[in-house]
Amino acid sequence: MWKKYLLLVYLFFLITGCFSKNKEIHIETIIEEKSHYKVSINYPKTGYSLLDDSLEKYIDNIYHFFIQNKNQENSLDTLEELNIDYTLYQNKQFFSITLFTSINDTSEIKTFNYNYIEDKFFSLKDLNNTKNIYSKANTILFHRFGNILEIEKIKENLNTELFSIDENNLYLYYQKNSISSNYQDIIIIDIPLKDINLKFNNLQKTSLEVSERKVNTEKVNKIIDTNSKVIALTFDDGPSYYTKDIIHILKENDAVATFFILGNKVKLYEDTLKLSIEYGNEIGNHTYNHKWLTKLNDEEIKKQIQDTQDIIEETLGITPTLFRPSYGSINKRVRNDIDLDIVLWNIDTMDWKYKSVDKIVDRAVRNASDGKIILMHETYSRTRDALSKIISILKEKEFTFVTISELKEIQNIRKQNGKQ
Ligand code: ZN
Repeated sequence: MWKKYLLLVYLFFLITGCFSKNKEIHIETIIEEKSHYKVSINYPKTGYSLLDDSLEKYIDNIYHFFIQNKNQENSLDTLEELNIDYTLYQNKQFFSITLFTSINDTSEIKTFNYNYIEDKFFSLKDLNNTKNIYSKANTILFHRFGNILEIEKIKENLNTELFSIDENNLYLYYQKNSISSNYQDIIIIDIPLKDINLKFNNLQKTSLEVSERKVNTEKVNKIIDTNSKVIALTFDDGPSYYTKDIIHILKENDAVATFFILGNKVKLYEDTLKLSIEYGNEIGNHTYNHKWLTKLNDEEIKKQIQDTQDIIEETLGITPTLFRPSYGSINKRVRNDIDLDIVLWNIDTMDWKYKSVDKIVDRAVRNASDGKIILMHETYSRTRDALSKIISILKEKEFTFVTISELKEIQNIRKQNGKQ
C-alpha cells in the first residue's frame, strides 16, 4: 500500500514539476528622457536565468556605453537617441530572440538562440548542415542584393553567425556595412524552413487560452452627468508586468483609464489588453517602439503609427482613434503625418523620476480640476502602488473618471450647450 502512495506522491511531483517549467514571459521597458538624449529599450525576460542574464548583460553594456558618452561635456549639445527593440519566438524547445540596437544612425544586431530544455545556447551548426544553409543564403543574397555587395567584404562576412528562427523561416543577419557600404541598414534574409529541411514543434496555446476572449466592441451605454467634474487617467509605455494589477485596481474602484501602448508588446499581452477593453478602458497608439518621432522622416513616422494600428486591429479587434507621441515629442511635420487625434496631458506625475509613492500621489491630485488629463506610466511598480490612493482622493473630491474619448464627447456636449 505505501508503495502505491509513494508512487502517487512521485507522480504528483513529476506533474507539478512539469507545470512549474511554464514560466511567464514579460517585456522589460526602460524609457528615459533628458534634454540632450532619449533612451527607449524593450527586451524580453523569460525566467530562464542563463538567457536572461546574457540579455541583460548585453543591454547593460550598450546602455552604459551610451550614457558615458553622453555625460562627456563635449557631447552635451548634440541630441542623441538610443533605441533597442526585439523580436521573440518560442517553440517547444527553444527561444529565438533578436535585439535591434540603434544609436542615432548606427545600428547593430544581436541574436540569442537558447534551448531551454537543455539549458544552453545553440548555433547554426547545431541545427543542420550549415553548408546547405549558407549555399541557400548566398543564392538569395546575390539575387536580392547582388548589385551592392562588395567582394572584399563578402570574403570575411558572408557566413554570418547571426540568425533567428520563427515558425516559418530562418533569418540571417549581416551587420550594417559588413558586406556592403552602399546599403545603409542591416541586411536581413529569410529562408523558408522547409527549404532547409528544418521542422520544429510549435507551442500550442493551452485550452484555456484557446477559448479566446472576444472583445465586445459595441458601445456600452454609460451615463455620465456632463455637469459633473470629470478627469482622465492615462498610462503610457505599456503594456507591462503591472498592467494586470492596474486594470484590476481600476475595476475594483469603478474607474476607467486610457492606455497609450507600444505596438511591439501587444501580442504578448493580448489577454490582459482584451480584459482591459472589456472593463471599459480605452487603448491609444503610442508608436511601435518608442522612437523619437521628430528625428524620423515622414515615411518612418507613418510606419510607426500604422504598424501599431495594424497589430492592435489584428490582435484586439479594435481601431484606436487616439495617439500620444513618444517622449511627447511633436512638431508640425509629425502632426501632418498623423491622422489620429493627438492627446497630450495637463498633469505630469513625473512617476519616472520620483521613486516615492506619496510623491506620485501628491503630484497626481494636487492640481486636479475638471477636464484635466493625468500622465502616468504603467511600467513602474510605484505607479501601480500609487493608483488606489490617487483614485480614492479624487473620488473624495467628487471626480468621475472618464476615458479620453468620453472626455472629448463631454467637452463637445458642453460646448454645444454653451452655444444654445
Ligand atoms: Zn512614452
